[in-house]
Amino acid sequence: MEQPLEQQDLDLIWHPCSQMKDYETLPPMVIDHAHGCWLYDTHGKAYLDIVSSWWANLLGHTNPVLNARIKAQLDKLEHVIFANFTHEPAITLARRLKALVPPGLSKFQFHDNGSAAVEAALKLCFQYHQQTGHPERQKFLCLTEGYHGETIGALSVGSMDLFALKYKPMLMETVHVEAPDCYRCPYGQHRETCSCPCFAKAEEAFARYGKEAAAMIVEPLLQGSAGMRVYPPLYLKKLRALCDARGVLLIADEIATGFGRTGTLFACEQAGITPDVLCLSKGLTGGYLPMSLTVTTRKIYDAFYDDYGTHKAFLHSHTYAGNPLGCAAALGVLDVLEQQQILPRARETARWLTKEMEARFAGHPHVGEIRHIGLIHALELVADKKTKQPFPAAKRVGYQLYKKALERGLVLRPLGDVLYFNPPLNITREELGQAMGILEAILSD
Ligand SMILES: *Cc1c(COP(=O)(O)O)cnc(C)c1O
Repeated sequence: MEQPLEQQDLDLIWHPCSQMKDYETLPPMVIDHAHGCWLYDTHGKAYLDIVSSWWANLLGHTNPVLNARIKAQLDKLEHVIFANFTHEPAITLARRLKALVPPGLSKFQFHDNGSAAVEAALKLCFQYHQQTGHPERQKFLCLTEGYHGETIGALSVGSMDLFALKYKPMLMETVHVEAPDCYRCPYGQHRETCSCPCFAKAEEAFARYGKEAAAMIVEPLLQGSAGMRVYPPLYLKKLRALCDARGVLLIADEIATGFGRTGTLFACEQAGITPDVLCLSKGLTGGYLPMSLTVTTRKIYDAFYDDYGTHKAFLHSHTYAGNPLGCAAALGVLDVLEQQQILPRARETARWLTKEMEARFAGHPHVGEIRHIGLIHALELVADKKTKQPFPAAKRVGYQLYKKALERGLVLRPLGDVLYFNPPLNITREELGQAMGILEAILSD
């Protein structure tokens, strides 16, 4: 007799971002199939995937349009080397995205995951300055609490000690600018009305390092892994102007915020800015397949364009660059977004959700803040609402609630003590109502 799948899993598999010992008390859920916002395990139990399977699933699981596109592509061309070769799905995808990304972004590099897109962005900016007369520009600036992925370069520009501290000796030195913290604003301002006095921290950093800086990288409007920290578009506007004034490139990591998560197709739109480099992944393929893009301007492209012997080319590649199945999924995403009016509908759902969340949770003695952007809604739990004092980390309040929610069929994967919804954009009010009901139940426990 074969062992149950749970046991075989524990014998064989080392799961991402997990203390495997935790699995002794909470073994992995073995998912058999999924549809829309719902996952079904091998025992027939249903779970509402309110976190979009790590923020990637954009339009529901086994979406009929996306499934059909990938199946059709599969019988035509599954993959082909992307140096010297190309194919129609990649070309069409780039052409269509060019009309949708912030104006001025026109050159598309294909990679195979978010971290890889960030690595390429960093190398690109570094090399750009080498080839345009500023070899002294080698430093990268980033925000504290930022997250840009797990590879060495991406970790270096992230500043979450939880992920990066152990590896410090391996990482490159970067300049960390204190990020906006609107819930615990040191200036006593409010997100909706403020003039970003916290931007002085960025000005100080640029005054000191501006001449040696290659680029600054940010997650526009929403620091996701930091606990769904939302900050105002004005901050981004100011940052764009500051980068321009100091000759520093701006990298927007929209891997989490892209494709409608913040209410607009891209978060940068809300600030009316165009970054020099844009990183996309996750929702790009609807959360189906690992693919990412590093999108840049003609100006940067031209700095690499020359005779081979000048050694200016960007010699960077990933085996699965331009994977046609990923492109087919991404084209399907663009069609569904457009044809089913997903964004306007999600914006309406979001307005309704904000009211519901506030009515149900704002009065709770441990809900410090309800913050939201697009359909993303987060509750920060605190020990003391007045002082905003967090719970002791050792209590793992978020993790305890995660387990309780799972029992009730809700996949809530908190960031510390921040509980959040980041659902597929086509989730229904009924489903959100179910999720809020479970949240109410576990919070009153
Ligand atoms: C998820 C994420 C990444 C990393 O993407 P992977 O595909 O997991 O490597 C980078 N930046 C942001 C903002 C992300 O949310």
